Amino acid sequence: MRAVNAPEALADLAPAAAAVFPPWRPESFLQGLGPAYGTDLAAQPVAAPHWVARSESLAQALGAADWLHTDAALALLSGQHVEGLRPHASVYSGHQFGVWAGQLGDGRALLLGEAATPLGPMEIQLKGSGLTPYSRMGDGRAVLRSSIREFLASEAMAALGIPTTRALAVVGSPQPVRRETLETAAVVTRVAPSFLRFGHFEHFAHTAADPAAGKRLLAASIERYFPELQGDDEPAAAMLGEVAVRTARLLAQWQAVGFCHGVMNTDNMSLLGLTIDYGPFGFLDAFDPGHVCNHSDHQGRYAYARQPGVAFWNLHALAQGLLPTVEGPAEAAGERLLAALEPYKAEYARAMLQALRDKLGLRTAQPDDQALIDDLLRLMASEAADFTLTFRRLSAGAAPLRDLFIDRAAFDAWALRYDARLVQEHSDAAERAVRMNRVNPKFILRNHLAQAAIERAQQGDFSEVQRLHTVLEQPFDEQPERAAYAEPPPAGAEPIEVSCSS
Ligand code: AMP
Ligand code: MG
Repeated sequence: MRAVNAPEALADLAPAAAAVFPPWRPESFLQGLGPAYGTDLAAQPVAAPHWVARSESLAQALGAADWLHTDAALALLSGQHVEGLRPHASVYSGHQFGVWAGQLGDGRALLLGEAATPLGPMEIQLKGSGLTPYSRMGDGRAVLRSSIREFLASEAMAALGIPTTRALAVVGSPQPVRRETLETAAVVTRVAPSFLRFGHFEHFAHTAADPAAGKRLLAASIERYFPELQGDDEPAAAMLGEVAVRTARLLAQWQAVGFCHGVMNTDNMSLLGLTIDYGPFGFLDAFDPGHVCNHSDHQGRYAYARQPGVAFWNLHALAQGLLPTVEGPAEAAGERLLAALEPYKAEYARAMLQALRDKLGLRTAQPDDQALIDDLLRLMASEAADFTLTFRRLSAGAAPLRDLFIDRAAFDAWALRYDARLVQEHSDAAERAVRMNRVNPKFILRNHLAQAAIERAQQGDFSEVQRLHTVLEQPFDEQPERAAYAEPPPAGAEPIEVSCSS
C-alpha cells in the first residue's frame, strides 16, 4: 500500500480516537463529500463474537499491535457501537459479468472512519456487519468460510508484493447465516487507503445521473489520491490514464503469480489499482490458461487468460463513467478519454514481459525472449505442470524440472534453448537462483490449503488458519519445516468448487 497525503492535521482527529484505534478521524473520504455518496448508519453487531484470525504484522505496521489484543478491539471489529463513530455505507453501481447491473453499493460493508497510521491515512472497513440500504436481496452478512479466504488472500497477496486491500482480523460468531447450507457469521476488518471503485464513478454517470456529484468526486479523488495530477486541464483523462497504468501493472502481477480474481465486475475494480473483493478467487495449481475459478462463471468470462482483456474492458466502463464530468462536446471528450486508455496495452505487455523475464532469471532483454517464454507456457499447459512449482524449481536450472514433464523430448528441446540463453548473458547460477527465488514464490494460497484451514475453523479450531497465514507471510522463503504447504493438491483429488456465495 502506498501512503497518500494526509487530509488534515492530526489536531482535527476526534477524541473518540483513543478508545478506538489511535489516532482516529471518524469521517471517511466519501462521507465528507456529502449525502449523495452514501448513508450513515450503525452496524448490526454479530452475537457472542470471538477472534478467528488477526494479522499481527499488519497491526504492527499500523501502530495498533497492542490495541488489537484489547476487548475494545473485539467489540469494535464485531460491529458494536462506539461513541463518536459514524459508520458509513457508500453507494456505487457497476457492470456485472459484462451487463449493466444498476445500483449496488456497500450491501454488507461499513466504513468506520480513517486512521492516521505509519503507512499513511487508512480507511477501516467492516465486511459482514449487517444490512444497509444497499443490501438488495442479501442479508448483510459474510460467512466464516469466505471471511477466512478473504483474510488469508489479502495478507498473502501483500506478502507477494501485490497491491491489495489488507485484512486486519476476522471475528467469528455462532450466529447462523443461510447460504446453500447453514453456516455461521463472521466480520472481516479490511484496511486500505481507499475503497473507491470504478463503480463509484459509473454510479453518478448512469444511476444517479448527477454530473455535478461525479465532478465533485473526480476533483476530490484527484486532490486526495492523485495529487500529482492537480492542475491538469484534462483531469478526467489524466486520472483515467493513471488508473489504466496502475491496473495494467496490477494485472501483470496477478498473471505472474497465477492469481485468478473470479469476479472482475466493475464494482470490484479499485480506483487505486489494488486487488479488492476476494470472493471465488483462486491461485493456479496445474497451469491451464483457460482456468475458471468461479463455479458460477459459466461463460468463462473471468478465465485466467482473459483477465488482462477484462480489465481493459472495465477501464472502458470507467471512461464512460467519467464522460459526464468532461466539459465540451461529448464526442471529442469521449475520444480524449479513449486516448487516455491506450497506454494500458503497452504497459501491460511491458510489465508482463518483464515479470516473466524475472521469473526465468533473465537479466537482459533479447528479441527471442517472448518466444522462449511462450513456448515454456505452452509446454506447461499441455502437461498441466504446476504453475508455482515449475517456476520455483527453475531457479536451480532446467534439469530439475524434467521430471514434471512427460514429453521429455519437447522439454529437452526447450531446456537447450534456455541454457543457451543463460550462457549468452553469462548468467551465474548461484546469483540467478537468489534473484529468481525472490520473484517465484514457494508458497501460495492453494485452494486445498484454504479449505483444510476452513474445515478446522468450522469445528472451532482456528490454529490452522493462523499457521497457514504465517507460512504465506514469507512466500519466498524456503521454510523447510513447512514443505508440505508447497505441495500441489493430492493427485486425483476432486477440484474444490468455489461459488459466488459468500
Ligand atoms: P460481490 O460480488 O461480493 O462483490 O457483491 C456484489 C454486490 O452485492 C455488492 O453490492 C455487495 O455489497 C452485495 N452483496 C453481496 N453479498 C451480500 C450480502 N450477503 N448481503 C448484502 N449485500 C451483499
Ligand atoms: Mg464487490
